[in-house]
Amino acid sequence: MNGDIKEVFRSIQGEGEYVGAPQVFVRFSGCPIGCKGCDTDYSYVESFDFFGLEKFSNPVNPAFLSDKIYDFIKPNSIHSISITGGEPLYQIDFLEEFVVCLKNKGYRLFLETSGFLIDRLNRIGEMFDIISLDFKLKRSFGVEFDIIEIEKIDPNLFNKIYVKVVINNTINELDLNKVLIGLNILNKNKIYLHFFNNSNNITYSVTDFFYRNGIFAYYVPQVHKFLEIR
Ligand code: SF4
Repeated sequence: MNGDIKEVFRSIQGEGEYVGAPQVFVRFSGCPIGCKGCDTDYSYVESFDFFGLEKFSNPVNPAFLSDKIYDFIKPNSIHSISITGGEPLYQIDFLEEFVVCLKNKGYRLFLETSGFLIDRLNRIGEMFDIISLDFKLKRSFGVEFDIIEIEKIDPNLFNKIYVKVVINNTINELDLNKVLIGLNILNKNKIYLHFFNNSNNITYSVTDFFYRNGIFAYYVPQVHKFLEIR
């Protein structure tokens, strides 16, 4: 099945556990989540930019796109291919074919997901090497992750997942407790914290909370924004 892509580019990972990793980013169009203040342009485009070199038309064929990526960059010269969005799981049928093509070429695969489409994550998660899962909080995004849904995540995926959360200075202990429950479900003892709008408002009560509860919390500014790259 063909799918809609927003852009394909090369950059470094700017968030979470793999910050600094050189990656190819494949940004999928579309997202059903509707976070307030979303700063990602995932809108549909008729043709998308491919490494700043060419334009390809949407919807694109997964085998064609994976061949083009392989022509441009080989698996042994990057850390991984980051499948991002939007919400990539939104186009699950296209994604499924695309990741098979990329996997067959030998790429390490990295999924960035909002954590709202857990059935789809369970369907395809095994194909990924790394899954970056966002716990979205109402106070930051206007929508909030669901503990019940997190409990449904296939335990076979736990070792691929790391969790990040965007916070701001209105986050309270109830929010943090919810994050803690989610981490415990996933058997995680680490969390990566980003501040809304990349402010440098380091809130030590937040890191104190996590350390008190046995979680290693790391404050990671969104490095790509500091470097003014994508
Ligand atoms: S899930 Fe991500 S892309 Fe979708 S609306 Fe929220 S922040 Fe934006």
